[in-house]
Amino acid sequence: MRIGILALQGAFIEHKHVLDSLHVESFEIRRLRDIESPFDGLIIPGGESTTMGKLLVELGLLEPLKQKIENGLPVFGTCAGAILLAKDIEGAAQGQGTTFATMDITIQRNAYGRQLGSFFTEEKFNDTVIPMSFIRAPIITKVNNGEVLATVNGDIVAARQGNQLATTFHPELKTDFVHRYFLGMM
Ligand code: GLN
Repeated sequence: MRIGILALQGAFIEHKHVLDSLHVESFEIRRLRDIESPFDGLIIPGGESTTMGKLLVELGLLEPLKQKIENGLPVFGTCAGAILLAKDIEGAAQGQGTTFATMDITIQRNAYGRQLGSFFTEEKFNDTVIPMSFIRAPIITKVNNGEVLATVNGDIVAARQGNQLATTFHPELKTDFVHRYFLGMM
């Protein structure tokens, strides 16, 4: 099994550390030729979704990766990665051609405001309590198609639609549970 980690910007190295600890092979995606060889899953890390989106377009990576996702490649987006997967970004013109827009969820960026921009909690993910780190996180305001896997205070923080998994928190910082769930999707 070989997992590609989008490594244009943001918290990609932490995902590699989790996969290393699980003895799963991974590689960094920085340019088009990195995705020439086949791979079994894709991780889109947290960071700044607008920056990542622009780089994806500039590097010619957006369309080929989007096609792979639409063809069933398992994908796991955390935080900014979840924003890049969402079909609907609330109040944003961002969706226009600079995001994958493959997952039928509605997301609100920076949903906790400045005061509570970053926080830590423990909540159930698919019935198991895990640590969750939120960093200027979005909220999934609607899962139009698919299942809700976790909520915090009634807000959706993890969802799945077929081959696509999104968390608004950063599981890679404190647990390998969500990565193991993702590997189980393959
Ligand atoms: N606030 C960032 C955005 O809107 C996401 C933050 C993160 O990925 N930790 O892209």
